[in-house]
Amino acid sequence: MSVKAPCHQDCREYIQVDVFRGMCRVKEGYLVSDAGACELFFPEKKCRLCSSYRDSGGELGTCGGKTPAYPGMIAKTCENFEWEVPPDE
Ligand code: SF4
Repeated sequence: MSVKAPCHQDCREYIQVDVFRGMCRVKEGYLVSDAGACELFFPEKKCRLCSSYRDSGGELGTCGGKTPAYPGMIAKTCENFEWEVPPDE
């Protein structure tokens, strides 16, 4: 799976404010969540980017084929998270 995630809501610097908007920890002002990312983009850890995530073809996948997992679920506190494709630092 590709690590490409070109919108703000998939960036580790993005802070969700409501369903459509958020703020950036680096830049000022509000952002539209699904608008294109900037040059500082770095992917947030999410289940779909983890080597244990298994796509089930629908909106819900699994972790290791066992536990249900939403692909867009933030996984920065998961101690088992491992990048499927490590992003460039
Ligand atoms: S660093 Fe760039 S891509 Fe990431 S949230 Fe801020 S403006 Fe968006």
